[in-house]
Amino acid sequence: QLKLYYQPITDAEHTNILGYEALMRWHHPVKGLIMPNDFIPIAEETGLIHMLGAYALYEACREAVSWAGEQTISVNLSPMDFHNPELPVLIGAELARHGLAARDLVVEMTEGILLDGDPNTQATLQRVHALGIRLAMDDFGTGYSSLAYLRRLPISELKLDKSFIDDLERDASSRALSKAILTICESLDLRVVAEGIEGEQQCEILRRQGYHAGQGYLFSRPLTPDAFADWLRAHEVGQGGVAPACAAGPDPEDGG
Ligand code: C2E
Ligand code: MG
Ligand code: MG
Repeated sequence: QLKLYYQPITDAEHTNILGYEALMRWHHPVKGLIMPNDFIPIAEETGLIHMLGAYALYEACREAVSWAGEQTISVNLSPMDFHNPELPVLIGAELARHGLAARDLVVEMTEGILLDGDPNTQATLQRVHALGIRLAMDDFGTGYSSLAYLRRLPISELKLDKSFIDDLERDASSRALSKAILTICESLDLRVVAEGIEGEQQCEILRRQGYHAGQGYLFSRPLTPDAFADWLRAHEVGQGGVAPACAAGPDPEDGG
């Protein structure tokens, strides 16, 4: 009943695919399709989250093999998955089983992990990083008021939350924030992915600000593995045929 759907992360500059994010769906025999925001919290409360995390790692690695290329596969884990000191072993075993390298995988976590009181969490996180796996901070800008963790945690990617993207066209402070966050990420050598891009205008603003990576319905909704394979064929991955053309040019708000 559990399935992973996949959504591409695209490079707005070169119009290539940088990676895929695996997003879980629950096809309930009676209730139909249930979205992760409705079942992940219950899985966390009941302890079933560890089973979901293990399944997502297994299944995403298995499917990533058939799309082998330069792209990364991103898997979402709950802060609770980091309570398990065996998590690095589990991840290493899934990579090895499917013949993937550590650099093929990105583990996404949310800022909730910073408020997590479990004594194992920080050590597990460091050990996952030590395997060479990239860690991404998801929903950046929504959960936690301190930026100090950007120095402390071994993160290589930030995902700018959709709420910033939604207001880009009409709100100058959203544009100022997205630009400032990009500058921070560049100086810390972090990849930043803009999440939830739905419109050409949003894409254009981000492109002009210098964003190199984005994800959203404008490029593709999350798709079943079969539909995703069709999408990849139709868009000729790596042939420059993926993203809608966002005209390059200087940022009008950047003195240019
Ligand atoms: P997320 O990791 O931030 O994933 C992005 C969410 O935004 C996804 O919702 C995706 O379908 C949606 N999205 C992407 N582009 C657009 C867009 O252009 N417009 C709009 N309106 N939405 C867009 P989804 O799939 O419902 O997942 C929600 C959250 O559930 C995820 O947020 C993630 O935190 C969590 N989640 C998903 N799969 C898993 C999983 O396997 N394990 C765990 N622990 N959490 C998961
Ligand atoms: Mg995510
Ligand atoms: Mg997110």
